[in-house]
Amino acid sequence: MKEKTIILDLDDTLYCEHDYVKSGFAVVANFLAAEAKQQDHLVIYKKMIEIWMEHGRGKVFDLVCSFFSIEQVDIHQLVQLYRTHLPSITLYDDAVAFLNNQIERGVPLGLVTNGLSVMQWNKVKALKLTSYIDAIVVADDLGGQAFWKPSPTPYLKALEILQITAQEAIYVGDNPNLDFITAKKLGLETVRIIRDHGDHMNSNVPPLYQADRQIYSLLELIDG
Ligand SMILES: [Mg+2]
Repeated sequence: MKEKTIILDLDDTLYCEHDYVKSGFAVVANFLAAEAKQQDHLVIYKKMIEIWMEHGRGKVFDLVCSFFSIEQVDIHQLVQLYRTHLPSITLYDDAVAFLNNQIERGVPLGLVTNGLSVMQWNKVKALKLTSYIDAIVVADDLGGQAFWKPSPTPYLKALEILQITAQEAIYVGDNPNLDFITAKKLGLETVRIIRDHGDHMNSNVPPLYQADRQIYSLLELIDG
């Protein structure tokens, strides 16, 4: 049987998404330090991490500004800075080895990712993924959030670019809440990757949402 084509998720599959969050916080902390003048950027950064751990991501900018009494800053501007920054992130070691292996063997690859277009393309750029992956589909580009996974549209787009059928593809992701349900319905094989860090590593979902199999390193895909 012909070898299947692998289509990858991005966040927490190829690199650690928490590193993206930290990278964005660092940029915002530098900006706030310049605005607030009396505060060191590292002190602000550490406070942001503390707030994130305690309250989640959503309120970090509001809470950090109120903690340091930084009143002249527009929170929307901070959100824009975060969303548009070119992140300092690196591929997981197994992802580098896996991607190089696929390149050496001349095997085409796909990528289907959720998230705001500008953020996802900056991640693709920072990780230099265009040199490895033929079919990069940022679902947001297809018409906004309605077309994010689990919409079938981004999967179908990747299959179309790769010129393969669903039965000839494997989707690899980390989030069982949305990565596999539609991929399975379309006929793709599905693989869940479990990382040391990530928001979805302990998620338990009904069978319909579960991947066909589970791996701990992308290198397991090379061994069969
Ligand atoms: Mg993911």
